[in-house]
Formats: sequence, C-alpha cells, structure tokens
Amino acid sequence: MRPLAVFFDLDDTLVDETGLMADCVRRVAEEMQETYPFLPPDLVVAAYLQASLEVWKRVTPAQPGVTIPLMRRWTWEAALRRLGVAGPVEPFLQRYTALRDGKVRPFPDARPVLEELRRRGYRTGLITNGESALQRWKLDRTSLASLLDPVVTSQELGRSKPDPEVFLEAARRAGVRPEASWMVGDLLHADVAGARAAGMTAVWVRRRPTQQPSGAPEPHHVITSLTSLLELLP
Ligand SMILES: [Mg+2]
Repeated sequence: MRPLAVFFDLDDTLVDETGLMADCVRRVAEEMQETYPFLPPDLVVAAYLQASLEVWKRVTPAQPGVTIPLMRRWTWEAALRRLGVAGPVEPFLQRYTALRDGKVRPFPDARPVLEELRRRGYRTGLITNGESALQRWKLDRTSLASLLDPVVTSQELGRSKPDPEVFLEAARRAGVRPEASWMVGDLLHADVAGARAAGMTAVWVRRRPTQQPSGAPEPHHVITSLTSLLELLP
C-alpha cells in the first residue's frame, strides 16, 4: 500500500551526528596527547561513541532535568571510566563543547530525497528524541525545516521513542493513520521498535556497516542511504 506520510528521525538519519561527534572527540583526544600520551585517539573515539549510545538508551531530554550538556558530561564520564582515565572530566568536556556547539552536518542525500518525496505527493515529518530547541536549530540551520511537518520532539511530549504514543501523535498531527505511515530511522530499539508497535512500516537506515543484534526488532525494509527510499516509494 502506498503510504501517505513518511516520518524521519533526525540524528544519524538526516544529519550526521555520529560523524560530527567522532571528529570533535578525535580533535579533543589529539589535543590531550600531551597530558595523556598513552591514550590513542581511536580508542577515545570508540569509547565515547559507545558511551553515547548507552547514555541515550538510558535517558533522553524528554525526562525532567535531563539536558544535552548534562548528557555530554555523563557520556564523557562513562568514556573516561571505560578508558581507565582517573583525571578530571572538565578539560575534555569543555574542549568538546567548544568544538561541537554551533555545528550540524546534514547528509548530502537528506534534502534531495525529502524534496523528491514531497514532489511525489508524500507528507514528510520528523520524530526525534533530541532536545526541542537544539533539534529545531539544526532544522533551521540545514534548511530542512520547510520540508518537515509535523515536527514531533519527545521533549515536548514528555515521552520518548520507542513509546508508540510518540509515533501515534505524529500520525495524528499529519492527519494520517499509522498504517498509512512509514518511519525511517537509524536505531532499531527506538525507531524501528516504536514504529512497529504503533502500526507503521519501519525502515532501518543503516549508514554504517553494523550488525543487526540478535533479538532486535525486525525492520520491514533496510536501506543504506536515503536515496533507496525513492525506489521503495515511487
Ligand atoms: Mg537517530
């Protein structure tokens, strides 16, 4: 059945959050070589990305008192613990924040695919677990805002993906039934699981070669770039 609406996740689906994060962490690690000569930047990047995944699984800005700066602090603390670094977190955190703030990197396929889907008559919207103000800033900065309506953020709902209610609210705002909606996202436990539970068709965008963990929810479609959507949605 041809869907009426296609919803997208933001981070690592439309914008390259992990790529930008990894580059900034690498810069921090390189600059810290004088203090920590036995800390290879590759290892710091791997530890940070893993810690970030775990922190985001545990909390999101939809929870009271949780903010992106706090989540960054928890991520650095967890990464340094993992690396066996006993030193203070502040130098890492401060330098990272200075490098990371004010930057967003859209994937080159995001805008053309959204434009083409709209041209073909699909409604396109956003469902994100990120902080409302930050996510809206990213949309403005990348000029994706005009291509996404509705924009549903977990923070304003007080619920996070994979809670099906978040997906159902997006469908309501778009005026479509969940069964007539697709959800495209990079996280199996949040995007795919939640979309399936809400009755949507779930598309897993796997931009980096990662294993599908056993027991993970099964997506209806797997794509490696958004461009493939143009074949799935004529
Ligand atoms: Mg994501």
